[in-house]
Amino acid sequence: MAADRAVSIIGAGPAGCAAALAALAEGASVTLYEKSRFPRHKVCGEFLSPEIAGVLDALGLWPSFSAARPARLSRVVLHIGKRRKRFSLPQPAYSLSRYALDDLLLREAVARGADLKIAVAKSGAGPSAEPPIVAHGRQTPTRRGKRLFGFKAHFRGEAGDAVEMFFFRGCYVGLSAVEGGVVNVCGVAPEELLRQSGFRPESLFHGELSARIARLEPVFDWLITGPLVFRDSFREHRGAYLAGDAVGFIDPFTGSGILAALMTGKMAGQAAARSIPLEQYATMCRRMLSRQYSIASTLRSLLGAGLAESLATLVPGPWLYRLTRPSF
Ligand SMILES: Cc1cc2nc3c(=O)[nH]c(=O)nc-3n(C[C@H](O)[C@H](O)[C@H](O)COP(=O)(O)OP(=O)(O)OC[C@H]3O[C@@H](n4cnc5c(N)ncnc54)[C@H](O)[C@@H]3O)c2cc1C
Repeated sequence: MAADRAVSIIGAGPAGCAAALAALAEGASVTLYEKSRFPRHKVCGEFLSPEIAGVLDALGLWPSFSAARPARLSRVVLHIGKRRKRFSLPQPAYSLSRYALDDLLLREAVARGADLKIAVAKSGAGPSAEPPIVAHGRQTPTRRGKRLFGFKAHFRGEAGDAVEMFFFRGCYVGLSAVEGGVVNVCGVAPEELLRQSGFRPESLFHGELSARIARLEPVFDWLITGPLVFRDSFREHRGAYLAGDAVGFIDPFTGSGILAALMTGKMAGQAAARSIPLEQYATMCRRMLSRQYSIASTLRSLLGAGLAESLATLVPGPWLYRLTRPSF
């Protein structure tokens, strides 16, 4: 046990909280820096890969997660042009709003002894001389050229047990149930198109997607985030244990970012509490994530080249799904 270790963590999203819980379980003391007050909504598809159950269980979070009554999703429907591609998930997935999920993770971390400081932390900041855990989410460097932005809103209405993804004009939009009879509509679109729409994503929708949205009742207005830059930092540790989106940001259509955040967060918490060398930890991350990153980046290039329809015809859905999960 690492009773004398002081672990500082920047960011209390899924990665930071998983790190805090894992380090506390190792007997370390934990200081958690978070710049925002929770609960808060966050742009996210809120799809939780089925494998999340094992990670939550290992962190002792399963009872509080189940008590939040996440929706269960068992099917995927891809709408690409006039085509529909349907497949069942290997096991049912979960769907819980970030409002509820992030709040429950943080509450558990604090209840188990994490010292929460609401503050903007600088990398390297913290009470200890040990390398911190950096879990501050994705970086959004300003970059010129074609940029992608994410958007999300919640609605009331029916969504069933499928995640539906609509692909059109370089955009994609996912629609699925979360807890409490609420439907999440979340997507990614080129900045240029969003700007032309006055940042009203619904004006880009058409056909079946428009008809579906028209039947739903808005709960809150669109939240927008960006630019989204897909990248990985497997080769650099920057003097810290990087976890979650700070290790790398994968294209959200994979629906695997939160799973990876919890997995790398848990691993970072244990590594920091046990003083595992940073290089060794970075190698562990690379082994866990590099395959899914390469596949996601290939798929993104195919989508960008307008080859999504051919891809949907050729590649079996369950195969595509499996390859975009982290390696356990
Ligand atoms: C459009 C979109 C849709 C997505 N859909 C899905 C999906 O359906 N399923 C899925 O699994 N993933 C999805 N993702 C990805 C998912 O949101 C991320 O992978 C996940 O949030 C990563 O968790 P994290 O803890 O690393 O980072 P975050 O959740 O971003 O948490 C980082 C925390 O750090 C805090 N912070 C940042 N800087 C500082 C600082 N200097 N000091 C103190 N605090 C700081 C922030 O306030 C934040 O609370 C989506 C992402 C986008 C953009």
